[in-house]
Amino acid sequence: MATLQLQGDLAQTFNKIHHQNGAWTGHITMTSGAELQVPLPEKYLQMSADEIAVQIARQKERLGSRLVVLGHHYQREEVIRWADFRGDSFKLCKDAAARPDAEFIIFCGVHFMAESADILSAPHQKVILPDLHAGCSMADMADIDQVEEAWDALQEACAGQKIIPITYMNSAANLKAFVGRNGGAVCTSSNAKKIMDWALTPVEQGGAGGEKLLFFPDQHLGRNTAVLEMGFSLDDCVVWNPAEDLGGQSEETLRRAPILLWKGHCSVHGTFMPIHIKNVRERHPGVHVVVHPECIHEVVRDADSYGSTEKIRQIIAAGKPGDIFAVGTEINLVSRLAEEYPDRTVLSLNPNVCVCSTMYRVDGPHLLWVMDNLLDGKVVNQIVVPEPIASEAKLALDRMLQIA
Ligand code: SF4
Repeated sequence: MATLQLQGDLAQTFNKIHHQNGAWTGHITMTSGAELQVPLPEKYLQMSADEIAVQIARQKERLGSRLVVLGHHYQREEVIRWADFRGDSFKLCKDAAARPDAEFIIFCGVHFMAESADILSAPHQKVILPDLHAGCSMADMADIDQVEEAWDALQEACAGQKIIPITYMNSAANLKAFVGRNGGAVCTSSNAKKIMDWALTPVEQGGAGGEKLLFFPDQHLGRNTAVLEMGFSLDDCVVWNPAEDLGGQSEETLRRAPILLWKGHCSVHGTFMPIHIKNVRERHPGVHVVVHPECIHEVVRDADSYGSTEKIRQIIAAGKPGDIFAVGTEINLVSRLAEEYPDRTVLSLNPNVCVCSTMYRVDGPHLLWVMDNLLDGKVVNQIVVPEPIASEAKLALDRMLQIA
């Protein structure tokens, strides 16, 4: 798979081209902002993996309770071994909140996760992303200018109908803020049904009173939740393509559809196809196929079960010796589960799946570099969400916490 690294305006332009052509199958690496990752000093590039590990252990001990390290499940082994907490993005933010004594939070994940941690952490805590190039191609597919344009066009096309915006946790802080100030909420892959139900429930019954919802940025999570858990048909789900006039839909279609899905997807989970399920069932009769809901609808529909990374972990943990699992999610997590449960066979559903190349930006040298700087009294790569974005995004996050 090809990889491009783009910055700022160029990244936005490329994203628009990507939407127009719909043909790009590579993985776009972007920063959600204009920050540039400074090159690491040469000494970090000269050190062996063992030397890096020894130094990280030493510096982490020196930082003691002043530091908490968070590691997303998709991080590579050389990084996640140092995590005080492991989990998905939302669990990690809650874990960080449980350590108010920690002055520094190093988030080994991607940009939107560090932003959420900054929003949810105490004012005295500083959130650090070891490599500023660690973005998320899905989050970058919902550019705030395009979102604002779409919102205005939808208000006009669907005049008289109340639309509730819902955004997946995997989105930039400015999109969470947009959702917060327009009466919507954030959701995770674990609670998407509860939040979408709330959006469409009448106000007098405790809901948001929406006649329809607009779901960002992952069309697949929105569609899978609506169809497989809420009883909507595929026809009820309409995709808004920001590169086309009126999202590529007629006014009539937009007025009719209860579920509007932003045209975004995850480049990693988008590689799993129904043919992979067919092949693995032929090769391993009795296999249990479990996938992430960011996969396309046909894959999630044909799997034996699906869920967040935490749920995938629980399903494999609940298995018995001899069980075979084919897992449709990022390969670092699949490999780790295979090591943790050697009495079970844990395979990737797609033998050729790639790592999440943005998550992969965080490595041992970057982790050591940020720790060395902290001990020198310098905070590098701090992620700060400015006001009013932070307060508005928190509104959307707090609504989720109240509902789910
Ligand atoms: S796995 Fe997909 S959604 Fe998760 S960080 Fe990578 S690109 Fe983004």
